[in-house]
Parts: sequence; structure tokens; C-alpha cells
Amino acid sequence: MQIEIDKKSGFCFGVQRAIDKVENLIQQGEKINCLGDIVHNHEEVNRLSELGMHTIQTSDIGNTSNQTVLVRSHGEPPSTFEKLKANNNKTIDATCPVVSKLQNRVKNSYAEITGNNGQLVIYGKKKHPEVIGLNGQTGNRSIVVTTSDDLEKIDFDSPIEIYSQTTMPLEGFSAITEQIKERAKNQIIVHDTICRQVSGRVPHLKEFAKNYDVVLFVSGKKSSNGKSLYEVCRNSNPNTYFISSADEVKAEWIKVAEKIGICGATSTPQWLMEEVKTHIENNYHNKKKE
Ligand code: SF4
Repeated sequence: MQIEIDKKSGFCFGVQRAIDKVENLIQQGEKINCLGDIVHNHEEVNRLSELGMHTIQTSDIGNTSNQTVLVRSHGEPPSTFEKLKANNNKTIDATCPVVSKLQNRVKNSYAEITGNNGQLVIYGKKKHPEVIGLNGQTGNRSIVVTTSDDLEKIDFDSPIEIYSQTTMPLEGFSAITEQIKERAKNQIIVHDTICRQVSGRVPHLKEFAKNYDVVLFVSGKKSSNGKSLYEVCRNSNPNTYFISSADEVKAEWIKVAEKIGICGATSTPQWLMEEVKTHIENNYHNKKKE
């Protein structure tokens, strides 16, 4: 039996950077409160919690004072930073630099387009933390669209400027922008701000998945890029299974496979994919040889 871990799977640069910050601060003896899950991966959140990280929610900010609070890679709206400061907290900003840059662009474009009686549109998921942070740059006055049903919120007679949440699929972005372009009667400016750390993995995973009898896609159940990258693998290879930890591996998947591929999302830690590999080696691989 041959088991391989995809070399390109695992944390993207922005997530790795936020986790490194947490680990460094814990090593320095700092008591860290992370605002929201540091990454959409339960196992990694548990690992960091065991090291001493505490996770708080947005609803806790009002009761959090004189603490060290880390803003994760998704970023936050300006109101969050203001509230944290007002309560004398020390804020560690681990917003991914790609997201910070996008927040600034959204803020500047919003000022410009509304000065021109236009609207700023964000293609993304309304409740996704990154979108909440982006919308906050516009005083929550941008128009968030996820599907074509949301297009009714747009005034097609006025100028439109469009941005995207960094983790949305490229095909979805081009489909929705085409529909907006068809209906727009005024100026329209489109910015493709999808992060290639996610979309760049699509063609790679399509090919990776074809090479194995069975593919195990390791990801947290809350990860949106996990769900979409899993679909990419499953479309390439129907014997692809979504798991969140090694104990979810089923014997019936493994016993007929000669070649097993393990891959994951941008929020999947390397150690977790290695744990899955070791679990298969210990429970199936060696038994097959006996
Ligand atoms: S997916 Fe891209 S934008 Fe999002 S955290 Fe990772 S590197 Fe940053």
C-alpha cells in the first residue's frame, strides 16, 4: 500500500502567520484571547487551547478588558478595534496582509463610488468573518451578494464597483459578475480579489485526486474552502472521503486500496494529515502485510 500526503495542502501563508504569532506569544508567557476560532479546524484550535490560547466571541468583547486579544487572519471591522481599545485591551492584529490590503481598497473605493452615487458590491458569504470585516470598512453599507437571488439588492441604473471575498470560487465570481454586467446600465468596475492561495489549489487537486484509488480529504467541517476543495477532489475521483480526524477513517475505504492520497484545505494542519497517514499505516498497512 502506498500512502502519500499532498505537498501543496495545508495552511496558507495568512493562517500560518496568525498561528505563529499565537505560539510565539504563548512562549513569551502572554495570555492570549483569540477573537473567534483562529482557524476553521477544531483539532488545531484544541491543540492551541492546550498550549494556553483562549477563544472568545464577538459577543464577549464588551466584557473583555485589560486583556491581550488577537484578531485572526480573516480580519475584523474597525468597530471591533475601537471597542477593544476602549476597554484597554492590547490588540494583536494577525489579519492576513492580503485581507488588510483588500480592506483598504474597499474603504477607498466605497468613498469614491458613493461620491459618484454608486454602490459597492462584495461577492461573498454575508456571515463569513472576512466579509463582516470588509463590510465594516463601508459602515456596513456595501451590498453583499452570494447567489443570483441577491442581485435584486443592486440598483442597475447606478455605477457599481465589485470586490470578492478572498476565498470564494473563481467560477462563481465570473458567473455573478457576468450577470451584473449584463444588467448594468451605468459604469461597472470589477476587481477579482480571490486569493490564489486557495483558487490556485483547484487545478492541482484535480490532478492529485486522479492518481489514487482512494483520496482522504482532511478538513474542519466549518471550513468553506475545505468544502469547496473537497468537491473538487470528489469530482475528479468519486472515491474521495471527507474526514476531520484519523478516527473517522473507515476500514471499507482502505482495505481495497493500493494507493491512498491524503490532502486538505488551507485550514488543515500538516500534523493532522500526518496523523491520518500514521493511523492507516498502524491499523491497515502493517496488517495487510501480515
Ligand atoms: S486564503 Fe489568502 S487571503 Fe485568506 S488568509 Fe490565506 S493567504 Fe490570506
